[in-house]
Amino acid sequence: MVAAARHYPQFDSQPASYYEASCVRRPEYSSLRGPVKVDVCIVGGGFSGLNTAIELAERGLSVALLEARTMGWGASGRNGGQLIRGVGHDVEQFEPVIGHDGVRQLKRMGLEAVEIVRQRIEKYSLACDLTWGYCDLANKPGQFEAFAEEIAELRGLGYRHAMELITPEQLPTVIASDRYAGGLVDMGSGHLHPLNLALGEAAVAAQLGAQLFEHSPVTRIDYGQRVKVHTLEGSVDAATLVLACNAYLNDLNPELGGKVLPAGSYIIATEPLSEARALGLLPRNLAMCDQRVTVDYFRLSADRRLLFGGACHYSGRDPRDIAAYMRPKMLKVFPQLQNARIEFQWAGMIGIGANRLPQIGRLASHPNVFYAQAYAGHGLNATHLAAKLLGEAIAGQVGGGFELFAKVPHMTFPGGKHLRSPLLAMGMLWHRLKELLPL
Ligand SMILES: Cc1cc2nc3c(=O)[nH]c(=O)nc-3n(C[C@H](O)[C@H](O)[C@H](O)COP(=O)(O)OP(=O)(O)OC[C@H]3O[C@@H](n4cnc5c(N)ncnc54)[C@H](O)[C@@H]3O)c2cc1C
Repeated sequence: MVAAARHYPQFDSQPASYYEASCVRRPEYSSLRGPVKVDVCIVGGGFSGLNTAIELAERGLSVALLEARTMGWGASGRNGGQLIRGVGHDVEQFEPVIGHDGVRQLKRMGLEAVEIVRQRIEKYSLACDLTWGYCDLANKPGQFEAFAEEIAELRGLGYRHAMELITPEQLPTVIASDRYAGGLVDMGSGHLHPLNLALGEAAVAAQLGAQLFEHSPVTRIDYGQRVKVHTLEGSVDAATLVLACNAYLNDLNPELGGKVLPAGSYIIATEPLSEARALGLLPRNLAMCDQRVTVDYFRLSADRRLLFGGACHYSGRDPRDIAAYMRPKMLKVFPQLQNARIEFQWAGMIGIGANRLPQIGRLASHPNVFYAQAYAGHGLNATHLAAKLLGEAIAGQVGGGFELFAKVPHMTFPGGKHLRSPLLAMGMLWHRLKELLPL
């Protein structure tokens, strides 16, 4: 524990999340002591790392996974729990690089990603409160009109789940708020308890033979034909390395670190609400997300709290009182929660890439080093897809989606380590100003 605390001191003062307080019993994994030799070493015990471990162990490879804190400690165990179709944003922008068919394949994989989560949960009977149903909320009439086109496109891609346009008049059937201009309900997306999913996946990886180590921050990597990955008290010698640290990568690999910017996002949880009050807010118990750059996202937990998340801070400084910062945002949507007590507040880091497509590939300088990162606020499904693609690529299966993702170049943010975040914050401000236009 002491070693991990030294590794991320800036996060030590964060309050515990609702998920920490409500998670299943947590098995403990020992820290790495001494040398270990395996086929693949994975750094990072979030969805990306844990599911890559499962994919590789299922294919018979030996795996050691090193996590600086505890399994699911990063974004995976503290996110909004919204499992939403799709990967990337505006993927048509990649047509010059991957062609029309490539864009279509990316879109299909965005739909497959949710199915991977569904199948993993079903195959291993993972208890994580999985509930189907999600609604995109339009902030402006123009966004609502675009939902009809989206439904048509999803049908064209073979999306088989029920979808429904919710007109402004029908909105009270899904949400008791007068803030929105319509919705798109998708019964193939949904919500779940993300920490319980991560802990369940850790247990599966361990059962399949992967060696999992907690409180084992990686301090140095020696690259070469084999990689040697060092922690304070041990080392892993591996043929292949997977870096799955996303927004928490820091300086571990500067080449990848320059391509992903950490941004803070914040969530509050109310006290448990009575059934009538909870379903009075969200009558169909759907997860919800609006369309703004700094989205509001919210849903009910299994014990009927409203979990309300949002914001996107690039400054590296979290609000001192997250509840005081987030509560007014919640009350703008649900003024009827004026007297509801806030019982939990917490923060997490989202990894943002310049073009908003998850970065899945291998280092040109070291072809035995693979990575997956930069999912923005949409990683629950995409991490599972990334893990599948990494598993296939590392096991030598060619011609799958891995090559497609790896083809897309990812810009290193300009401005060096210290100027990157302020520059991006200015860019985001510009997008937010544009949002003030009525359409
Ligand atoms: C507040 C919040 C809300 C979100 N809401 C949603 C949502 O509703 N839906 C959705 O789809 N996505 C959401 N996301 C995004 C999603 O959670 C992430 O994209 C996803 O969890 C990333 O998983 P990961 O495994 O790549 O990274 P992480 O889960 O962040 O795991 C990275 C791990 O690497 C470890 N690590 C870092 N450096 C080292 C080192 N040197 N040695 C060893 N270990 C190291 C860290 O301790 C960490 O546990 C949200 C994110 C946040 C922060």
